[in-house]
Amino acid sequence: MSLKKEGVARRVVVLGTGGTIAGSAPNARDNLGYRAACLTVEELLAHLPPDACPLHAEQVAQIDSKDMEFGVWKALALRCAHWLAQDDVQGVIVTHGTDTLEETAYFLHRLLAWRKPVVLVSAMRPATALAPDGPQNLRDAMALVRTPGACGVLVVCAGRVHGAQDVRKEHTYRLDAFGSGDAGPVAYVEEGAVRQVRGWPCAAPDGRSLERVARITELPRVDIVLSHAGADGRIVRALLAQAPSVRPQGVVVAGTGNGSIHSALLAALEQAQAENVRVWRTTRCAYGPVLPAGEHPLPAARELSPVKARIELMLELAGA
Ligand code: ASP
Repeated sequence: MSLKKEGVARRVVVLGTGGTIAGSAPNARDNLGYRAACLTVEELLAHLPPDACPLHAEQVAQIDSKDMEFGVWKALALRCAHWLAQDDVQGVIVTHGTDTLEETAYFLHRLLAWRKPVVLVSAMRPATALAPDGPQNLRDAMALVRTPGACGVLVVCAGRVHGAQDVRKEHTYRLDAFGSGDAGPVAYVEEGAVRQVRGWPCAAPDGRSLERVARITELPRVDIVLSHAGADGRIVRALLAQAPSVRPQGVVVAGTGNGSIHSALLAALEQAQAENVRVWRTTRCAYGPVLPAGEHPLPAARELSPVKARIELMLELAGA
């Protein structure tokens, strides 16, 4: 019997990558002294209530997401693409650490062109905590992935649903650690019901090429530098002095305010640009794009945060 037939639940695939949601602490009262990435994705799913929807689980990685790297991104993107291409798969859930979740979300958003949902889910407390937040977030992810019409790369945390383009971790401790800045959440999950407040962030038509990314072993190196009081050009000049094999091909500068940059740092960045290093300008402000304000020697990455601009520039330099 075809799983696509009406009334038959379609499969949800859950890909595990580690994080605090899979974390374990020696003391259940300790929400901070734990090790991330201990429980397997199957163990996480065992805490879900019995459900009509068939689940398939796969462990793609088992890491603390602070250590995220291209190899895991690539494996994850390929597994997502594989499962999203199956007719009987409704969507994919990715369990992930909170620290670099917005980067993984953006990476997947730029590479996956599917009109199905990919939901990243995390937790701020380890699985062994007295009151863990992971199981509820996972239930919310299940509700979201099964919502008719939901699509694009989404993040669910503490009942709020964010789009990959806008989401960022904005709190170090609160269970509701993520925000979407000016854009606001895409939806809310309330008692298992999804209340959508704006359009689903389905894949952009100018998405990058997963086929190209699948063929490479490393993305071109792009570093991030920060403008601040007393900044100078020494870090940039040290980068330029690196051997060609490790010298960055790109630099993203997190400027102050509307992308302004200390003049000493700017001079070094202009030198980098003159030496064929791509330099993109962003802001270290949590919210707001870098808006055009007269002539500037460095192009602005508009609404992209420094970490997302870095991903975009790496993909561009890779020809993806
Ligand atoms: N360091 C952890 C991680 O990103 C933090 C978390 O998941 O909340 O994997």
